[in-house]
Amino acid sequence: MNRGIVYFVGAGPGDKELLTLKGLRALREADVVVYDRLVNPVLLTETKESAKLIYCGKQPCKHTLRQEDIQKELLIHARKGKKVVRLKGGDPAVFGRVGEEAELLADNHVPYEIIPGITAGIAATMYAGVPITHREHSGSFAVVTGHTKTSDGKPDVEWKSLAESVSTIVFYMGVKHIRTIATELITHGKKADTPVMVSQWGTYSRQQTISGTLATIANLVEGQIQNPAIIVVGEVVKLRKKLKWFDNRLLHGKGILMPTSTIEEQEAAQQLRKLGADVYEHPKLTEYSTCLDNEVFEDMEHYEEIVFYSPKAVQAFLNEVGEREIDLRTLKACFYAKDDETKKALRNAGHLVKEWVGTHEWKRALVIGSEIEQDQPTPLQATKWVIAEQRVTNGEATALSRLLEEGHVNTLMITSENEAQKLVAFFKLTGQSSAEWSDKLRVICKGTAASKRLAEIAFIPDHVLDEESTPEEIALALADNVVLAKGS
Ligand code: SAH
Repeated sequence: MNRGIVYFVGAGPGDKELLTLKGLRALREADVVVYDRLVNPVLLTETKESAKLIYCGKQPCKHTLRQEDIQKELLIHARKGKKVVRLKGGDPAVFGRVGEEAELLADNHVPYEIIPGITAGIAATMYAGVPITHREHSGSFAVVTGHTKTSDGKPDVEWKSLAESVSTIVFYMGVKHIRTIATELITHGKKADTPVMVSQWGTYSRQQTISGTLATIANLVEGQIQNPAIIVVGEVVKLRKKLKWFDNRLLHGKGILMPTSTIEEQEAAQQLRKLGADVYEHPKLTEYSTCLDNEVFEDMEHYEEIVFYSPKAVQAFLNEVGEREIDLRTLKACFYAKDDETKKALRNAGHLVKEWVGTHEWKRALVIGSEIEQDQPTPLQATKWVIAEQRVTNGEATALSRLLEEGHVNTLMITSENEAQKLVAFFKLTGQSSAEWSDKLRVICKGTAASKRLAEIAFIPDHVLDEESTPEEIALALADNVVLAKGS
């Protein structure tokens, strides 16, 4: 029997690039991915199109998958011979229950591997400008859970030894009990003016950090910070003032959805990242090329006109003609091109192109283009050949709705009509509600053509930039904004 395998993968704390190469490889190869709430949703876009994605957080019916059910899922799929990835936030072994889950697999003789990840306590601190150890300020650190299974959930810790013997203490899941934590540490020997920092959504652009002392921190964070956040106690926190590097950049706090296709667009996205934004180059549509029906092809010599909608369409047609060894001279059809680029592609391949005037009376036309292009007006009674069909993969659709749900994106940046079209197609193909998106996103677009396209899905841009805007102007427009998502 083909035995499956389970990879426990640490997804890192948030920033998608903090996933290990080994973890990424496992994710790309997985047949089944069982993922937690705190995993950056965009990682799901790395999965195979056929991968089954199982979410362990709150389900649509509002209940959360229980630990036993998660473990059952791992066993069931591995026993079917599947490659299963159990994707966990941060490191699987730091308050991640990997011990329990791996034990069950060991008991059932199911093979597994554990791929460590970067834990929030180390990454969020460093992104806040606080190195967890330091020769002068911190010779030791401890990670401690701020929440236990007891009836009141309060941490169950050897406070005295912790307060006396550890330089830097990082509490996970502790925000709710921060007052208890601060009081206990003071009672057991830490000075009331020991520096403390609380850092939420660490390593995402939206990372928010509040600093104080054991005496003041509980009041400072009240109503300001929720989970996921870590509490860091120790002299080393003082260094943040000087070493802060991540959350003082122009676009800090911006989660930008920015679909891209061209190299220039991708470079612009990278530029925005350097300025401190999280940029998600999505949605992405997956294209499948389709072949021309035999019937249409057999009928080829009866067409009077062949209308090409894009250079890609020209290429697809010429490829087919070549493969079928058709002598183009036998065709009586004249060639027409939708735009100058397409005209150029035809001419470069040595074909005559007729001028397409608005009043042209089409006799028997074949129209060749992609699905989106064919949304545009086409000659009446034309036969159509869609050279490529577009689809949205499950990983893409799931990732995008979770990015929105978790508030990781607050801005939509559309840089061209083509990208606007892509967004329109995304909503058409997935059936997701564009109204829900537009409520939560500040929309910025470049050029009126893009803005008109967006109106098709009732996205009214908050800001329409000039077609010729420079990357600097775009960055400024993005910066001139409130940090939080609309409606949050
Ligand atoms: N295995 C994870 C921790 C899981 S427990 C890891 O190694 O990081 C969940 C807790 O981790 C949260 O309540 C919070 O205290 C912390 N946490 C996880 N991601 C975080 C983030 N991006 N920023 C701050 N704290 C985070």
